[in-house]
Parts: sequence; C-alpha cells; structure tokens
Amino acid sequence: MSEQNAQKHSFQAEVAQLLHLVTHSLYSNPEIFLRELISNASDACDKLRFEGINHPEYYENDPNLHVRVSIDKEHKTLTISDNGIGLSQQEAIDNLGTIAKSGTKDFMSKLTGDQKSDAQLIGQFGVGFYSGFIAADKITVESRRAGLAESEGVRWISGGTGEFEVEQITKASRGTDIILHLRDDALGYLEAYKVKQIINKYSDHISLPIEMQKEVWQEEEVAEGEEPQGGQYVKTDEWEAINSASALWTRNKNEVTEEQYIEFYKNLSHDFEAPLAWAHNRVEGSTEYTQLLYIPSKAPSNIFTREAKAGIKLYVKRVFIMDDADNLIPNYLRFVQGVVDSADLPLNVSRELLQESRDVKTIREGNARRILNLLDGLAKSEDEAEQEKFKTFYAEFGSVLKEGLGEDQGNRERILKLLRFASSVNDDVTTSLADYKARMKEGQKAIYYVTADSLNAAKNSPQLELFKKKGIEVLLMSDRVDEWAMEFVNEFDGLVMQNVAKGAVDLGDLQDAEEKKALEEAAEQFKPVVEKLSEALKAKTKEVRVTTRLVDSPACLVTGEGELSPQLVRMLKQAGQPVPESKPILEINPEHPLVQKLAGAEQFDDLANVIFDQALIAEGGLPEDPTAYIKRINSLLLK
Ligand code: ADP
Repeated sequence: MSEQNAQKHSFQAEVAQLLHLVTHSLYSNPEIFLRELISNASDACDKLRFEGINHPEYYENDPNLHVRVSIDKEHKTLTISDNGIGLSQQEAIDNLGTIAKSGTKDFMSKLTGDQKSDAQLIGQFGVGFYSGFIAADKITVESRRAGLAESEGVRWISGGTGEFEVEQITKASRGTDIILHLRDDALGYLEAYKVKQIINKYSDHISLPIEMQKEVWQEEEVAEGEEPQGGQYVKTDEWEAINSASALWTRNKNEVTEEQYIEFYKNLSHDFEAPLAWAHNRVEGSTEYTQLLYIPSKAPSNIFTREAKAGIKLYVKRVFIMDDADNLIPNYLRFVQGVVDSADLPLNVSRELLQESRDVKTIREGNARRILNLLDGLAKSEDEAEQEKFKTFYAEFGSVLKEGLGEDQGNRERILKLLRFASSVNDDVTTSLADYKARMKEGQKAIYYVTADSLNAAKNSPQLELFKKKGIEVLLMSDRVDEWAMEFVNEFDGLVMQNVAKGAVDLGDLQDAEEKKALEEAAEQFKPVVEKLSEALKAKTKEVRVTTRLVDSPACLVTGEGELSPQLVRMLKQAGQPVPESKPILEINPEHPLVQKLAGAEQFDDLANVIFDQALIAEGGLPEDPTAYIKRINSLLLK
C-alpha cells in the first residue's frame, strides 16, 4: 500500500457533540451498532446496483454483492466489509465528518442534555455510522469508490474525539471496510456466535448475503489410544451467508413473522417504536408491484412542515431506485412508511418521469386505497387492541388525514367514514358521522357542525344555543385544518353537512310554525333598530338581521353562504395569504334585554359597537380597536 501524508480534519460541531455522547454513555442495547453498519453496507450495495445500470464497468468483474463480517481476535477488531459503491476521499471527508442522515438530525433535535435519557435515545435510534463508537475506541475506514483507480483509495481514522485523519491508499477491491478496534468492555463481539445472533436479530431481512467465515470444529491432538478432551473452532477460507438474504417484501406473507415485519420497519424508518399496522401485498393486473406499507405509531415532529417527506422507498425489480418517493403516496398519507417494488417501471426512472407515469398513478391510488382499508379495518374491529390502535392513529395523524378531503376527491367518502369528532353530546373525539346520523332527531335532515379555534370556543359558541335548547347534537371542530377541509364536504350519506355559523339557520321540520311566526313578528318589530344598527356598523358588517338561533347571547356573527368564515380568514392571514375582503353578518337576539334596550338607548353607537365586538370575541376573534372597546364598555358601565 502506497501512502501519502495523512491530513487531519475536524468534525462538524454537531458530530463532535454526538460522538461525545456516544462514547460516554451506557446503553441498554449496545449491539445496535452492528445493525447500523450492516444497513450502511447494504445501502452501499444498493447504490452500486443502481449506478451499475449505466456503468456496468463499476462491477469490476466482481458482480456478487455481499457484506462480510470478520473477527480478528489477535488485533481485537471486528470488520464490516462490503463490495458496494465505496467512498472517494472527498466523500469520506464529507459523509463521515458531518451529519447527513435525517434520522440523526431528528435525533439531535430530541437531545435533552440529560446524559441518561440521551443515551437511551441513541440506543433506540441508532445514529448511523457513528454508533460504531459504542463498541470501538478507534475506527479505521478503508474504502475505494467503484470506478476509481486502485491507487485512489482512502483511509479514514478516528478515535471518536474532535478529529479524524484521512490519507490516500491503494485498495485492490472496491467498496468499504469498517474496522472497529473494540473497547475493552466490548470484546464480547469477538465471539462469532454472538455476532451471528445479533445479525439474525436485526438484519435478517437485508436482501443481500451477510457472510461470515465458516468455522469447523477441530479436535485437540491427542496421543494414540487416548480420548480427545476438547478442541476448538477454527476458521476456514469459506464464507457462508448467515441471513436469509431475500428482501423481506419479496417473501410470502406467511413466511414472515410479526417480529421480522417490525424489525424491517424500524430499519426502514429509523423509528424505534413498533408500527401500528402494516399491509403487505403483491398487486397483479395491468400494473404489477409489491407494496409493504406501515402506519407508524407516532407522528414525526415535522409532519406539518414543508420538510415532511413521504417515507416510501421505490425499488424496481428489487433494485433500489430512490428514497422518499412522494409520487407513490398522496400527500395526506405522508406519514406512511414502506417499500414499493415495481415490475413495470424502467430502471432509469427519474423523479420527473415518476410524475408523469401512468403506472405510478395506479400505484399511488392502490397505496392510498390499501391504507384507507387498513385504517377502516382497525376502526371497525371488534378487537379492543385494534380499536386502541385506531385511537392512537387518529390522535397522531387525524388532522393530516383530513387534508385528504380536499386533496383526494375520489376517496372523500372513505375518509369521511374514518373521521371522528367531539360533539355537543360528548367532548371526546370519538363520534363518527355514522354515529351522529344514528343519534339524529326525527325530522332532522342535516349534520350540524361548528368550527372554532379551540374545543372550548366551539362548545360555548353562541351559534349553538338554539341547538342546545332543542337538544340537537352539533359536531365541534377545532382542528386548524377543519375549516378548510370542510369546505370540500357538502354531504355525507345523503345528509347535508351544515356549518351552523354559515348562512341562515334552517332547522327545517325541527322548527315549528309558531317559532317561525315569532321570528317574522320580531323582524317586523325590530326593523327600525336593525336599520339603525346597519347604519352604525356599516364599516364592519355586511348585514344585520334578527335571529332565533340565540338564547343567552345578545348577538352572533355568521358568514354569508359561500363566503370565508372569520377563522379561515384569520388562518389565511397568519399564513401570509391574500384574503378577499369579506364582512360578517351580525344577527341579534330579540329576546335579549341588551338588544331590547337598543331602541331607546342614549349611547346607541357605543352599545351597537360593544354588541358587535362581543360577538367577535365569542367566536375567537379580537376587536379591531381593543382600546376603543374598553372605553365604550367603561363608559356604559359608569352610566
Ligand atoms: P446515513 O447512512 O443514514 O446517511 P450514516 O451516518 O450512517 O448516515 O452514514 C453517513 C454517510 O456515509 C452515508 O450516507 C454514506 O454516504 C456514507 N457511508 C457510510 N457507510 C458507508 C459504506 N459502507 N459504503 C459507502 N458509503 C458509506
């Protein structure tokens, strides 16, 4: 090996911080480092397979991709080797000196500074390459990128503190050797049986062979005529695979155990909790593909940000093509993790091509249907554990799912069936639209709901007063997305979905003739007041009218049919979106003493404005001019 002078480099600050933790912590399951390094080696082979499509010369007459794990008891090293894509010198500096992996970044953001709980987190997450320092006090990486000359190899060495060294070496075979110089407390990993056990536990689903040197039992040499007392295993030159080496999704469902599905998920998603549920199917027909889709049990912290990515890996005939293939799952199901292996897509498929492909569209629709069915199964299940799973799902991802009402017209009905709401009858978010329908009063023809910024605001909304009085259930919606999502829903199972704060209340048969007559009379009687109010509040309201929807409150704001509600306007403004000018309608309660006082009031303007501002406050808004509001109130109080 010809060597040049080694150069010293410093780790990125975050890596140094991470390494400090990795090297100074006690772990409950330290062996996960092996899973992480084998998973990297397997990724490197996937990458070679992918680049090899256009560069067959990268295979260098060594087409059988594999990972090899070897033990050197004398030097106390454990080596994980692959003949995958390898690293160039620059790649070694970049990739092994900074934190690239999103999972690791996520992990870093969760660090608390408390050594003990942080150590537990590392144990659960695994932190990629750096977890090697759990077992090693020095790591040597020797690598050569496929396609580069033998003299263009690289050696990377670090003791896991602030620095690493890089030098050029000659390396005959392409790929990477990760040589772990084991710590004294990690010498157990020099035992082949133990290493095999760990590989079986964590890496059995890896689709390429993970090999170890075959050992044979050699008996102790004894003098003639005596019985041998012992012996030992000695290594041979033969390598044998110790995993099943078939990609898990290509196996038959009944050949895969629950544990294997879970372990595969953890590896795929870098999640440390088991998934809630999964669906594994081979889909045949005009488009052929295999789907293995998981529903996680916890939402990642960035699920509502633009960074949130779909967690589907795309394979074409078992060749890894890309991570985060967001064309394969609709955005409102972006929490789904999994693998799609297509038999039809070309190997050189690009993201651009994916966007246009009809096969991809079919796969995306198939995936969406499968996930919605899976959820439906959980929701309908008689089994308590399954119901519990659905609850967990809904608490974590319910608001994401609702986006589908706008996004996926074709599945709107399916999605609606999965939704659960709080209601004026029950605060828990457990009422389905079907439950609501079953509980409806005779003569009721619509599903009533109210949207607000919080559950409390929804519950105490003045719009609900009449419904409460008449004992009509109203769904309470307080998710940010509700207001927007419900814009897309006109009906469910033949029933109109009616926002009680929109348009005039029409209770149809639930309102008797007498009430209708009383309203007409009140409207007549209050005509002059209504006209005066309209004039006084001209700048703030579109219309003022008398209503019967109120019982305890003097007034409320409603939105005109087809207009944006005040909450939606607030939401859009917060998001910096342009908002069309729209004014609410003020409805007044003719039975309320304050309203009855209006006719003869001395300070008519003040009272009118106070009534308007209070109606605004009641639905979660703020008076445009709070100081003026307070002044008016105080002046009225003093009278
Ligand atoms: P991740 O693998 O999730 O990106 P790691 O910290 O484990 O994060 O690895 C960082 C990077 O180092 C990888 O993305 C890859 O580019 C490179 N790398 C690690 N192990 C290998 C390997 N065996 N062969 C080639 N590249 C590797």
